[in-house]
Amino acid sequence: MAHIYVTRRIPEVGLLMLEAAGHTLDINPHDRVLTRAELLAALSAKPYDAVLCLLTDTIDAAVFDAVPTAKIFSNYAVGFNNIDCVEAAKRDITITNTPGALTHTVAEHTMGLLLALSSRIAEGDRFVRAGKYEGWAPMLLLGTDLRGKTLGLLGAGRIGYDTALIAKNGFGMKVLYYDIIQSHELEEATGALFCASIEDVLRAADVISIHVPLLDSTRHLINAERLAMMKKTAYLVNTSRGPVIDETALVAALTAGTIRGAGLDVFEHEPVLARGLAELQNVVITPHIASATDEARDAMARLAAEAIIDFAQGKIPANIVRPAPAT
Ligand code: NAD
Repeated sequence: MAHIYVTRRIPEVGLLMLEAAGHTLDINPHDRVLTRAELLAALSAKPYDAVLCLLTDTIDAAVFDAVPTAKIFSNYAVGFNNIDCVEAAKRDITITNTPGALTHTVAEHTMGLLLALSSRIAEGDRFVRAGKYEGWAPMLLLGTDLRGKTLGLLGAGRIGYDTALIAKNGFGMKVLYYDIIQSHELEEATGALFCASIEDVLRAADVISIHVPLLDSTRHLINAERLAMMKKTAYLVNTSRGPVIDETALVAALTAGTIRGAGLDVFEHEPVLARGLAELQNVVITPHIASATDEARDAMARLAAEAIIDFAQGKIPANIVRPAPAT
């Protein structure tokens, strides 16, 4: 029987699974992220065997020191840039994540952001609510069709793949992609063309959608120089991690009309937005909710719980993450 600390309440299904397996849970009593001091104090209060943590928790050497008995940290997220995996590996601590459970959900949200931009849904909603609508007009809030346009993926893993499938099959889009690993599966499923560089994708695509993990090698992958390579008519969509885009450079490009618009679920310094971003009409923003459906969050809770249950039984959990190779 393991004693587990849960850094914030997750869907009940995961907590019930852990209790049914005989484990004892202590759960952050607040409906908010614990401060650094609260997290360290909570973890050092008892000799916990396992921690179920969230992407909003920074898990590093000080945290591992606070709870040296915990040999598994189960991260309730796909991304694990919040965890110092190198330090964990040095200490033989197992880190797990929840991939796959939310792939289609995030792909749907990605397309939702894109449609909100291309059909000017968010802008139209604000327009009507502001009492500005005076009747149908031939030139009111003209958008752009997606059919026949080119989607350029940066990162063609699970979420990139599903986004390409929806874009191709649902909207008749062509697909280009750049990834450090070529995906023959994606090419067969969607007719996607592999590009040898990010720049080739940026210059050719009408929509750029980002699906890379946040690593040292992907921080500011999209910067001022690369924004300038995109078509003036192009949209940029990001449902991966905020720091992949230099957000100040993005605000400048959107203000100058270097690109047509952006759809963002994630931000460089969450929850704070870059100055000027929220005032721009050609941006659709959502508060990091791309995986926030009942189905996906329940599935994530089950995976996060399963990892701890398996580990406590001496089994190797399904979704162990390891440090990215140095670049
Ligand atoms: P994945 O591991 O299946 O795919 C990531 C892809 O990026 C891989 O194919 C990898 O080869 C590629 N890649 C890595 N470094 C690259 C680089 N420098 N250039 C180009 N390609 C590179 O992951 P996934 O399940 O598709 O998730 C992608 C990311 O989406 C996660 O890491 C996470 O940060 C983010 N995410 C966000 C939300 C949200 O709520 N907004 C939800 C889930 C996942």
